Amino acid sequence: MSSLGTMARKVLPFFAKGRVVRGFGRGSKELGVPTANFPDDVVENLPEELCCGVYCGFASIDNGTVYPMCLSIGWNPYYKNEKRTMETHIIHNFSEDFYDQQLKLVIVDFIRPMLDFTSLDELKSAIASDIVTSHKILANDAAAALSKHEFFLLDEDV
Ligand code: ADP
Ligand code: MG
Repeated sequence: MSSLGTMARKVLPFFAKGRVVRGFGRGSKELGVPTANFPDDVVENLPEELCCGVYCGFASIDNGTVYPMCLSIGWNPYYKNEKRTMETHIIHNFSEDFYDQQLKLVIVDFIRPMLDFTSLDELKSAIASDIVTSHKILANDAAAALSKHEFFLLDEDV
């Protein structure tokens, strides 16, 4: 396993919450994998160990159902790669967007480093395989228990 994964696992599981903001309009939704963005302050509070790769975990919107998710953490070209980005794809078909609603998540495990894809098809098949890997990892008892963590229970923020 890569050293990125070894480093990340030192701070996992990691919990985060914040309002969903608009992203960069890079067409994630057109690819069939919309990715919800957190505001800068949430990203700035991520431990340094959590960088550059694809992760899996669980997420909820406005304290609703807890779903599996895949998350990518990378460098933000808009800030000259000095700030990170954190984009969450919840593995569920929502009938509507949920901008400005509260996204809560727990990052459970590291899946892979960021890769440079030479074609859209390559990117799409990597995402499909990330989703399969996420389901496998999250089915593990210890991982699944995190979806029931008290963090996901109602709180005062919504
Ligand atoms: P943006 O550039 O604003 O991030 P995207 O094309 O990546 O646009 O779409 C992300 C938005 O899609 C999220 O902010 C959310 O409101 C909505 N959305 C709908 N379904 C999902 C999902 N399953 N996972 C993540 N976001 C979703
Ligand atoms: Mg997005």
